[in-house]
Amino acid sequence: MARVRYDEVDQYTTNTTNFFQLKEDRDVATVRILYNNVDDIEAHSLHRVKINGRDKWVECLRQINDSVEVCPLCASGNKIQLRVFVPLYIEDDGSVKLWERGKKFIDKLISLCARYNPLCSQSIEIERNGAKGEQTTEYLLFPIKGDDKTLEDFPEVPEVPETFLLNKTAEELDEFLDTGKMPGLEEQSQRRNPATDEGVKRRTPAEPKARRNRRESF
Ligand SMILES: [Zn+2]
Repeated sequence: MARVRYDEVDQYTTNTTNFFQLKEDRDVATVRILYNNVDDIEAHSLHRVKINGRDKWVECLRQINDSVEVCPLCASGNKIQLRVFVPLYIEDDGSVKLWERGKKFIDKLISLCARYNPLCSQSIEIERNGAKGEQTTEYLLFPIKGDDKTLEDFPEVPEVPETFLLNKTAEELDEFLDTGKMPGLEEQSQRRNPATDEGVKRRTPAEPKARRNRRESF
């Protein structure tokens, strides 16, 4: 997967073009859920934390039978939430977007997979039922027609950006709990300078000229 720089991801998560949303009550969209079957449903157990003033998801470090101590966030009392990032092909514009959903929705996906195989061969209308900010908002799914399409007929499914879904070690999570700062996600000050990315950043100060030339070429 392509690495996404933190400052780019900042844009990514505020500019929601790659995440699916229905904003208003009764909004509808016709989509394909880009799964073959139930094996494609990938649920994540996550912790919600605030980093630099923004809510972020962090992967829980525990496997099914692990004790709470394995994951510093679990040990600190932060509750696990199951989330799924459902890959959708939007029929209106041919784009692929990820739809972040919770545990209840996983059950809906399982029910759909039990009825349609491959699931992506089914055009599904999604309707939002609930006003903006409404806690009880629900999404109704109406399979409207099927064909013989397979996953090969659709664009590739994007990965969830790794800076959106943070994968941290126990040591890093301990440090976060101690200091309130997540290692690797410190507030960036040089975000306007593309030349500081990748190898250029690691050049020794003995090469100021090369560095300047490089920057000008951008
Ligand atoms: Zn945990």
